[in-house]
Amino acid sequence: MKTATELARPNIAALKPYSSARDEYQGKDARVFLDANENPYNAPLNRYPDPLQRDVKAIVSEIKGVAASRIFLGNGSDEAIDLMFRIFCEPGRDNVVAMEPTYGMYRVCADINDVEYRAVNTDGSFQPDVDAMLGSADANTKLMFFCSPNNPSGNLVRRELIIKALDNFEGIVIIDEAYTDFAPGTSMAGLIDTYPNLVILQTFSKAWGLAGVRLGMAFAQEETIGLMNRVKYPYNVNHLTQQAALEQLESADKVSGWVSAIISERGRLENRLAGLGGMTVFPSDANFLLVRMENATRVYNYLVDNGIIVRNRSRITLCGDSLRITVGTPAEDDELLKCLTEYYNR
Ligand code: PMP
Repeated sequence: MKTATELARPNIAALKPYSSARDEYQGKDARVFLDANENPYNAPLNRYPDPLQRDVKAIVSEIKGVAASRIFLGNGSDEAIDLMFRIFCEPGRDNVVAMEPTYGMYRVCADINDVEYRAVNTDGSFQPDVDAMLGSADANTKLMFFCSPNNPSGNLVRRELIIKALDNFEGIVIIDEAYTDFAPGTSMAGLIDTYPNLVILQTFSKAWGLAGVRLGMAFAQEETIGLMNRVKYPYNVNHLTQQAALEQLESADKVSGWVSAIISERGRLENRLAGLGGMTVFPSDANFLLVRMENATRVYNYLVDNGIIVRNRSRITLCGDSLRITVGTPAEDDELLKCLTEYYNR
């Protein structure tokens, strides 16, 4: 098995990263900062933020049980996804393999970076066909993407399937766990101790209720995190975002209350949608439901006309005639259910 540095593009492995003022002086006891060409007025926003977000990582480390040295924080998990391509994939030569259907940004990042994207269809329960994924990999396959719980299908990927990929794939395995807090059982983050080629993605955008501040996490062994830190923008997570995350991390109880409420509302919404008749609701371990029905686009348009926006996934592979519905508050979901009842009773 190659190390992360051996898998990286040679120019990245050899990169001498930009060294910012806040990188070079890290002591806490200085009184006068004249090193970064900042404005001396307008504290605290006049100062560049901590480039390695140490205060936030210290608390994330406690909550997630992952050493701070094994945590990367970025501008949403989308930044970490893009970094994977920029670090490991040689444009015009390398390729990646992903389960299909899944989160659309993996393909977009591949396209932006001129990297071939090999999508391998899941089975009828949206479980990845790992043998086919391994079969479609070759010497130039650098990344393999799993999303668990998967967007847009909502299901957890079976653990043993991912382990099979980890044991047999020669590149980096990425497990996107954006929705893990809504799923039963534990994250697979503990496996980073065993697998140097594993990268886990999580985010503050879902359970933590902070999509607006843009903060994503990646967990991996130090060598991979080191590569990510070299390639990222020096101050990739701004001061306001770090502050908002610190405050929310202190309110972990409030957040778990939201998660419980969303999970219980998911059950209610699932039952009510199934009760409307003519709808197949796929089992979900996330904060949304994929729902198949006749004429999904017509239903979608009817909802839009009534001011209710869901996601039409009908053009996505294996998701024909399906809408993806986020679990809202009970009042919001009641509006949706009322509107769907009207649609079917017209
Ligand atoms: N991964 C998955 C599976 C997602 O569904 C999303 C957002 N829709 C993201 C990542 C992006 O998360 P972030 O807001 O942290 O960039």
